[in-house]
Order: sequence, then C-alpha cells, then structure tokens
Amino acid sequence: MQDVSVSKIQANIEKLASFQTRSTLSPQDAAAVASGRGIGAAREWIKSEFERYSHDCGGCLEVKTDTFQYGPADRIPRPVQVTNVYAILRGTSGDDQQRAVLVTGHYDSRNSDVLDATGAAPGANDDASGTAVSLECARVLSKLRFPATIIFLTVAGEEQGLIGSSHFAQMARAAGWNIIAVLNDDIVGGDRSPGQSGSVVRVFSEGIPSAATDADLHRMRNLGGENDSPSRQLARYIAQVARSYAIDLKPVLVFRSDRYLRGGDQSSFNELGIAAVRFTEFRENYDHQHQNLRTENGIEYGDLPGFVNFDYVADVARLNAAALASLASAPAPPPDVHLLTKELQNDSTLTWGTSSGASAYEVLWRDTTSPEWEHVKLAGKITRITLPLSKDNVIFAVRAVNPAGFRSIPVVPQPEH
Ligand SMILES: [Zn+2]
Repeated sequence: MQDVSVSKIQANIEKLASFQTRSTLSPQDAAAVASGRGIGAAREWIKSEFERYSHDCGGCLEVKTDTFQYGPADRIPRPVQVTNVYAILRGTSGDDQQRAVLVTGHYDSRNSDVLDATGAAPGANDDASGTAVSLECARVLSKLRFPATIIFLTVAGEEQGLIGSSHFAQMARAAGWNIIAVLNDDIVGGDRSPGQSGSVVRVFSEGIPSAATDADLHRMRNLGGENDSPSRQLARYIAQVARSYAIDLKPVLVFRSDRYLRGGDQSSFNELGIAAVRFTEFRENYDHQHQNLRTENGIEYGDLPGFVNFDYVADVARLNAAALASLASAPAPPPDVHLLTKELQNDSTLTWGTSSGASAYEVLWRDTTSPEWEHVKLAGKITRITLPLSKDNVIFAVRAVNPAGFRSIPVVPQPEH
C-alpha cells in the first residue's frame, strides 16, 4: 500500500495527456509515433512502461499487445487498427496460475466530437486516471509473487463503443483463460470541483447477469437472486478488502451496472459471464469530460490534468492493488455449491466441491434485504453442512479459506432437488 506513489501516478497522467489526443481514430503510423502525438505514441509509451517494470523485476511480466482491425462501423468512419496493451504477472502455483484476476483502464480519449481524430483530447480523468491505476498496480505488484495470475490491461476503442475490451474478452474466452474477476477503473481522477468527496469511490456492479439464461431468469423470478450476481459478490469482496486493509478510501457499492446514459468496459466481460465491476469517482464534473478545451462564460471546459486529484487516484490504486493481491492469494472459489431443496424443511443443507488450496470453508448468510454478508460460520474442511436456519428467510454463500487466511469470492448455491 505504501509503495503506491502519488508522484508516479501524477507523472503518468501528465504523460498520457501530453500526447495531445488519444482518439482511437488519431494517426498511429511511425511518423505520428515519432512526433509524440496520437494514440500510437501513447500505445508505445504504455508498452515501454510495462517493459520497464518487467526489467526491474527480472523479467517477471509478459508484456503483450492484442491488435486487430475494426470498422467501418458506428463511430468509426474508416477501418482502424485497435491495440490493447497488457502485462501478465504469471502465478507461481501450478493449479492456481490457471486462474486470473484483471485490472483495466481505457487509454483512448475523446473531446466534444467523438469523430474528431486530431483536436486536443487530453483525457486526464477519462481515462488516463484508470490507465494510471492499471500501470501503478503493475509496478507495485510486480515486486511480489502470487499463486494466481494477475493481468494488467489498458484498452483502446472504449469511446468508439467498448471495442478494445470486447475484443480482449472474446480473445480470452477463445483461449480458455479462466478470468474470475475484472476491476475496471474509468474516471477515477477525483475531479477537484464542489460536491466531490475524496473519501469514497463508487463501485458499480450488475444485478441480473447480462449472461443470465432463461432458466436463471425463471429461478430469479421465483426465488430471488437478482442481487447476487458474480459481479455483485466481487463488489462485496472489494468492500471487505477496504475494511481489512483499513484503506482511507471507502467503496460505495452502487447496485446497477453503470450510470444513466453511460456504459463501460466492465460490460464487455459481463456479457461473457465474467464477474466485472466499475470504479468511478463519487461526483463527476461533465464540464471536464468529453469536452473541447475552451473557456465560455468563465467556465473552463476540458479534461485536463489540473482538475485531477492525484492523491485520490493513488487511493483508488491502493484499493485496486489490495483487491488484486487478495484475490490472487486466495484459493479458488468452491465449485458445485448447492442448496438441497428435496423436501420441505426448516433447516438448510449446503454441499460443495473441494477447492484446491483450501484448508477450510466458510458459510455466509444475510437477510434477503441486506446489502452485504452479515454472518459467517467456519465449516472446517468439509463439503456438506446443515444449519438450523430456514433457506426461505436468508441468502447463503460458501467461500474457501487457505492457511494464510485469504478467502475466495463467495459462491451463492444453486438449488438442487
Ligand atoms: Zn471513460
């Protein structure tokens, strides 16, 4: 936590803003890269940062790009090359390294006109701040080793329609990667304007999963579960991490997938059934997002580094790093978690499969109206338990615990009859 550096985050956001524009439509040929202007120059700089961190840890990061052609399409008048840049900190344990957790921000930017490929679009808050969080997590966590794998991602094409994250999620799915959690940081600059709170960050999570099947929806209509998507378990996990690490920044859980009229890269993962949440500052200043640089009637418009609170971005990075480290140190979530519903009974029996690395399991429960888990019972190294509680009155989950005390994301049971 102490290693997260305000000055490095500030330098990275100012560097990203210095490319003038990072529009996905901006020039990215060799001449543009050499001139230090446009998204191609930003891409090469991000890659060189990841490579520098890797050099400092003896080559511990695999630095990669995911490049593809896209368009023409809505918001893309002619075909463009889109490149996601990422670094992998491979897990140290045979079984666990197959499991990955991921942090992402989008490095593309825009101004008032989403089709403007050349006008100034510094994008300091949206989303150099999130890109800086992903970079700083890579720099700090690459000094440590974890059983599971951590992926530090920066994507392009967000402003043209979540193009980079969508391609990355599908590429990961096709390659069979087991990504269990995605932290998307977008607009985490803590804009310094009236009404802002520097002590909280919003964590958005979807309720009914985008990837829910008809059978899932049918079950939710009858028995509930609309407040227990994998993404929402991840949001609750982050709230618990903030308390465990006594981080100054308090996550405010928002039970919706995003803000009104807006979307973000978490959706690209949610659509494939991957747990993903969005971090965003408490109060956004729309004069400082998606705006051409100008002053009108005394109001300064534009997404400039001068409006960003770098101490706040560092706190967001600490929360992300703590969540990634906890998740990458924890055993796998227990598989095949079931709640037996064969007959009418006032007590409740849960069963689950074994999780590699687990030394015990914990059963959690809460009232159906409660936002977070309220009760926990240590179940030991068993895979079946009966509790004197009616399944009709509470919501249950099971999580795995390892000898070091790290806990998996809780898994809500499926009914079994
Ligand atoms: Zn954004």
